Amino acid sequence: MKPCKAPPRRGRAFKKLMRQSKLFTKTTKNISKDEVSINAQLLIRAGFVDKLMAGVYTFLPLGLRVMKKIENIIREEMNEIGGVEMFMPTLQPKENWEKTGRWNTMDDLYKVKDSSGKEMALGPTHEEVIVPLAKKFVQSYKDLPFAAYQFQNKFRMELRAKSGILRGREFLMKDLYSFHLNEKDLDEYYKKATNAYFKIFERVGLKEKTYLTFASGGSFSKYSHEFQTTTEAGEDIIYICQKCKLAINKEIKAEVPECPECKGTDFKEEKAIEVGNIFKLMTRYSSPFDLTVKDDKGENITIIMGCYGLGLSRLMGTIVEVWHDEKGIVWPESVAPFAVHLLKIKSQKSNLKIDEISDEIYSTLIKKGVEVLFDDREASAGEKFADSDLIGIPYRVIISEKSLEKGGVEIKKRNETESQIVKIEDLAKMF
Ligand code: ATP
Ligand code: MG
Repeated sequence: MKPCKAPPRRGRAFKKLMRQSKLFTKTTKNISKDEVSINAQLLIRAGFVDKLMAGVYTFLPLGLRVMKKIENIIREEMNEIGGVEMFMPTLQPKENWEKTGRWNTMDDLYKVKDSSGKEMALGPTHEEVIVPLAKKFVQSYKDLPFAAYQFQNKFRMELRAKSGILRGREFLMKDLYSFHLNEKDLDEYYKKATNAYFKIFERVGLKEKTYLTFASGGSFSKYSHEFQTTTEAGEDIIYICQKCKLAINKEIKAEVPECPECKGTDFKEEKAIEVGNIFKLMTRYSSPFDLTVKDDKGENITIIMGCYGLGLSRLMGTIVEVWHDEKGIVWPESVAPFAVHLLKIKSQKSNLKIDEISDEIYSTLIKKGVEVLFDDREASAGEKFADSDLIGIPYRVIISEKSLEKGGVEIKKRNETESQIVKIEDLAKMF
């Protein structure tokens, strides 16, 4: 047998991409007047996303890097609570939607027809796929519990698509579904999932502003729980209990008599974005598909379910709504597209070897595994600084005649005003 080839050297293709001169996208000042939300304005101006039409966006190289960071954080936390990852189709048979009764009742369902006249749904959610799938594999109570999840584009006919990537007609969601023999088991898992969600919000820099919120749960249980992040851009209004910090979505109660958790009556009203929503589905979807197992006494029982949604694109937009200033985005380090923005500032008269020195710094950082966006473009210092503030990478490293005269490179955090000079040989140690 031939020995297998050495794997390709990691990062080579990426290195080129990290040079800003090779990034085919650019920052722009021209954005459409009907782009009213801050997240869309900043993300489009900085070159993270492009709007194809209302509610439909392309994630450009910078935007995709952020999305992948968010995706990995969510993946780690879902794996931690025993979720297994899979990928389900967008095109879904009409019959499954008729079985659950949602073909005619779900207003925002996109319906498509092929040339033979066959009708299908573009998935806005995936109960109609995962429940019949589970039926093929779950044979005994011993196969339970289990939980499966995916990252998948969802399609919803949103009429109010005016909030940038907070409300897409096509948008990326993580949806996890859990399957249980009894309610106690579902309750335990539901608590675990709630904790996992808070870990995610902590890791992406939103924990301080995100509240577990009681919301309507549809017909199958009294409440569902939303994770609501407070910001002016929010389309929802929540009442935050000042005693226990749980919240209630205004849609469920016009007047709030007391907190369902601690019975407190002191509330603060805030605008908020629903970043996640978890439900105890009970038998709402397992019943129509007759998803049952025999328990240890040989009795037939209908499996009970939970579902746990989290919109990645909405989360990314929420991060921008929370983390920006008048100059641009201020990404939390965990989701920033790069850790370092290296700016090469050349002056005409200089005889210093700025090109060579900055190339060397760039490769030293790369070799150390630091993610660097290298602004190697022929552009003015002012333009580079403004772009850098707009793009919002956590650390800015400037190499210029001035910095070299002062003994090295200038380093500044995006969220601080003070900069410092660091010797070139000490720079890599900072990351
Ligand atoms: P909304 O009330 O904001 O329309 P929803 O309650 O219909 O949302 P869910 O069905 O609970 O949404 O979806 C789960 C998660 O998917 C939401 O908590 C949100 O993070 C995300 N999400 C829902 N709709 C959109 C959308 N149009 N664009 C982006 N993300 C969305
Ligand atoms: Mg919801």
